[in-house]
Amino acid sequence: MKSSSRPESILQALQSSPHRRFNPLTREWVLVSPRRTERPWQGQTERPEPESTQPYDPNCYLCPGNIRAGGARNPSYSQTFVFDNDFAALQPDVPAVQLDVDGKGILVAQNESGICRVVCFSPRHDLTLSKMSAVEIRSLIDVWIKEFQSLGRRPGVNYLQIFENRGLMMGCSNPHPHGQIWATSTIPNEPRKEHEALAAYQKPHGACLLCDYIKLEEASGERLVCGNEHFVAVVPFWAVWPYEILLLPKRHLASMTALDEPARSALADILKSITSRYDDLFQVSCPYSMGFHQQPTDDLEHREWHFHAHFFPPLLRAATIRKFMVGFEMLGSPQRDITPEYAAEKLRQAGLTPSE
Ligand SMILES: [Zn+2]
Ligand SMILES: [Zn+2]
Ligand SMILES: [Zn+2]
Repeated sequence: MKSSSRPESILQALQSSPHRRFNPLTREWVLVSPRRTERPWQGQTERPEPESTQPYDPNCYLCPGNIRAGGARNPSYSQTFVFDNDFAALQPDVPAVQLDVDGKGILVAQNESGICRVVCFSPRHDLTLSKMSAVEIRSLIDVWIKEFQSLGRRPGVNYLQIFENRGLMMGCSNPHPHGQIWATSTIPNEPRKEHEALAAYQKPHGACLLCDYIKLEEASGERLVCGNEHFVAVVPFWAVWPYEILLLPKRHLASMTALDEPARSALADILKSITSRYDDLFQVSCPYSMGFHQQPTDDLEHREWHFHAHFFPPLLRAATIRKFMVGFEMLGSPQRDITPEYAAEKLRQAGLTPSE
């Protein structure tokens, strides 16, 4: 590649031929194989049957007043409701154990302690983030912040993962709007990769990787999806999932707890905007996994951390066509067919007037 070439023209040239892109947050590569002859959007506009969920489902273990599988009864909550997962994958008190057979670093294991909580976003069984009002999402954000602070203060809790798994396609069988918070004593793989990359960038550049990235995206505009005074949403340059979104605060903040009142409301607005765009683009209640990556809660200062959210919808070009990560993707590198620039354009056009 000639160094005299402008970045825009190099990217233009790459648009039509297979290339790979670097993810500076995980320091991994993704293969992009744009297919010029096979237009990705085939114009499927068939609307699947409307979902006929009711505001209250007597058989739902998350609806107000109902009995959960573990036997506990939910209160008649009117906004949000948080409880310890009855079938938690993590337990708070596990004996400390370390294994390293013959000290070779091959058969290595250690105990992991933690807490799993469930957050019901709303008492309404039939809502989604996209259908909740910005005011309702705002009170959910306040709950996330409160949980982050109280769980993060507990001894032995060094990382908190707030996430939502939505839709059968993502393995979530209950449509009731809810998410989870897993508190762990160690930093899980994905945020740990980012943690190391953010710290490694800060030293030589004297700047934050994501602050610098926002400037590049705002200058180009090609991958911007939506934004407001406090947040910007992009299809990241290195996106793996077809319509993946990275949501970033414009200010350098290590966690949600640093958001002031206007910024919390701005976060509610943009969460609604993103999820509405997904629903509009696929004409269904779009499945996805989303979650926030924030600074560890290990009582250390984390000036390198720039908190953000990832959205990973599994859909490729219609509600019934999902992307699979198999073959080369399992054994080589992740691969995508449509370019992030194309996906961003589609998402910009979608959901311009979110329906209430
Ligand atoms: Zn329910
Ligand atoms: Zn930053
Ligand atoms: Zn992240």
